[in-house]
Amino acid sequence: MRLAIAAGIFGLMVGLEALLPKRPVPDRLRRWPINLGLAALNMAVLRVSVGGLAYSAALYAQAAGLGLLQVVPLGQGWAVAASVLLLDCAIYWQHVASHRYPLLWRLHQVHHSDLLVDATTAVRFHPLEILLSMLYKSLCIILIGAEPLAVVAFEVLLNGAATFNHSNIQLPDGLERRLRWWLITPDLHRIHHSVLIAETNSNYGFAIPLWDKLFKTYKSHSQQPQATMPIGLAAHRNPKALGFLRLLQWPIKPLPD
Ligand SMILES: [Zn+2]
Repeated sequence: MRLAIAAGIFGLMVGLEALLPKRPVPDRLRRWPINLGLAALNMAVLRVSVGGLAYSAALYAQAAGLGLLQVVPLGQGWAVAASVLLLDCAIYWQHVASHRYPLLWRLHQVHHSDLLVDATTAVRFHPLEILLSMLYKSLCIILIGAEPLAVVAFEVLLNGAATFNHSNIQLPDGLERRLRWWLITPDLHRIHHSVLIAETNSNYGFAIPLWDKLFKTYKSHSQQPQATMPIGLAAHRNPKALGFLRLLQWPIKPLPD
């Protein structure tokens, strides 16, 4: 069911990208097989390894009475809401760490090496980053004592939010201004994919802008116009050097910065 929802949101965003494109996407034939190929590989890797770990961690925490929310008695509705919110905060800090620590940044560079941002960029991750992310998330779930239902809701929310905020769509100005109060919009997240390091090191949130505002990493506007600002990594602008196999090798054989 989660896969069906993810595919539905992806299809919707791709449709909106065709109807309301923010920027031209001339390189789809080269980029899409790479991004979707990584998504397929990551799904396969998770399936044969730690795919169900997050949900199992929530069941384990509940059965063993572990985690913050097990000692703070809340009704189930509030416990689910608090779990989702705390997990979103945990993922914000994971993203900050991915930029701050060189070894994690090496993995995360695969995501940032996309020279354009669209819905397929949301699934462009190195398998090692996906595995590490699952282990970190499962640990956070136990520390929080997150509700199993919240874990499923969070996975759906995170996936949907990431597909939406990476999409190459031009929202009507008024709608975008209102949405960005409570949701990371494509315009906000595109700033995070700018080649300018001060902009890359901002807007780390995936779902809501609260954490960026609270921890002072929120950037409302890019220096250059969104429609033309360079996207990706400043040192890696040659699409031919960013092929599927080269991206898989990146963590052990990074291209020089
Ligand atoms: Zn990032």
